[in-house]
Amino acid sequence: MTDSDLFATRWHAVRQRLIADQADALVLSRGSDLVYLSGYDAHALERLTAFVGAPNTDGIPTLFAPQLEVPLVTAMPDVFTISGWTDDQDPVAMVAEQIVGAQRVLVSDEMRADHLLALQSLMPDTTFVSLSASLGGLRSIKSDAEMQAIQTVGGLANQVAAQLQSGEIPLVGRSEAEIAEDITARLLAVGHETVEFCIVASGPNSASPHHHPGNRIVQAGEMVLCDFGGKHKGYCSDITRCVWTGDIPADVLATYDTLKKAQQAAVDAARPGASLGDVDAAARNVIADAGFGSQFIHRTGHGIGTEVHEQPYVTKDNTQVVEVGHAFSIEPGIYVEGKWGMRLEDIVVVVDDGAIRCSTTDHNLIAVRA
Ligand code: ZN
Ligand code: ZN
Ligand code: ZN
Repeated sequence: MTDSDLFATRWHAVRQRLIADQADALVLSRGSDLVYLSGYDAHALERLTAFVGAPNTDGIPTLFAPQLEVPLVTAMPDVFTISGWTDDQDPVAMVAEQIVGAQRVLVSDEMRADHLLALQSLMPDTTFVSLSASLGGLRSIKSDAEMQAIQTVGGLANQVAAQLQSGEIPLVGRSEAEIAEDITARLLAVGHETVEFCIVASGPNSASPHHHPGNRIVQAGEMVLCDFGGKHKGYCSDITRCVWTGDIPADVLATYDTLKKAQQAAVDAARPGASLGDVDAAARNVIADAGFGSQFIHRTGHGIGTEVHEQPYVTKDNTQVVEVGHAFSIEPGIYVEGKWGMRLEDIVVVVDDGAIRCSTTDHNLIAVRA
């Protein structure tokens, strides 16, 4: 498939969803949605870049870009028309003119407020709706090729998680930051092109879900929570595994058993037709029943694709339905302030009969000596 065919196919699919949503127009500004439909990764500057499509017409969408940045756009005349605007023109007025008469317009979440406010004031009778709120995100339903890409990159991160569990990565006596550097190098060595994040949280720091690895030296007999991921061919990995440096205390083991059951329950619940709220509840109920409800302090998961966090979100009240082609994390956690925290995370892709994990390394809390 040529790039042009790929983007034309994507627009065709998005167009059907827009029509079903009774949207008269779509306005994307810069960001991952723009890359998804046009291949163009625009600068994050104040000049407006906007991809404007009207699903109900036969016309192809228009990409409005600052004239001085037009040379950066790869032209695909079968996919979109390029309209360069100069500094003496008002690009928002040009967009408004393109979608004149539209009643319901979907806008990308990343659109700057100044641009949207200007567009709203030019089109006072139009309703502007968040794309993610209406469609659950543009990129939330993955193609077979994208699902494959997510499984492939998930497999790469999985290799590093296995190295962590095997004791191959020295822990005791090293700082969190040193370990994070080591894991980063390993993520690159197994084939990621970039590392997007690497959390190494030891001892009491593991009770802080998004801890930044620092100078704390890992001790014997404590929790080490590692949550990391990178990109390969544009798609992201994200995995969390915990290890214990020494013999695992019985209460920690018992609590981890609850966590593991909760994660499995959510994977089992992630079937087409269930709601994302059902998936969250599956994990949350197991943890609450064991008495740790108030210590599971975040959502169960997030969508993943070209961004580490994207639609759909696995949250308590999300009534959105799980669909074939969804890819998201399932990562319940239990955090005991001042002592330790634990989280178990896999990315899953949803197929007809349920969710497939992209990572298969041991789901137990592993005792490592180093
Ligand atoms: Zn997170
Ligand atoms: Zn993670
Ligand atoms: Zn995650």
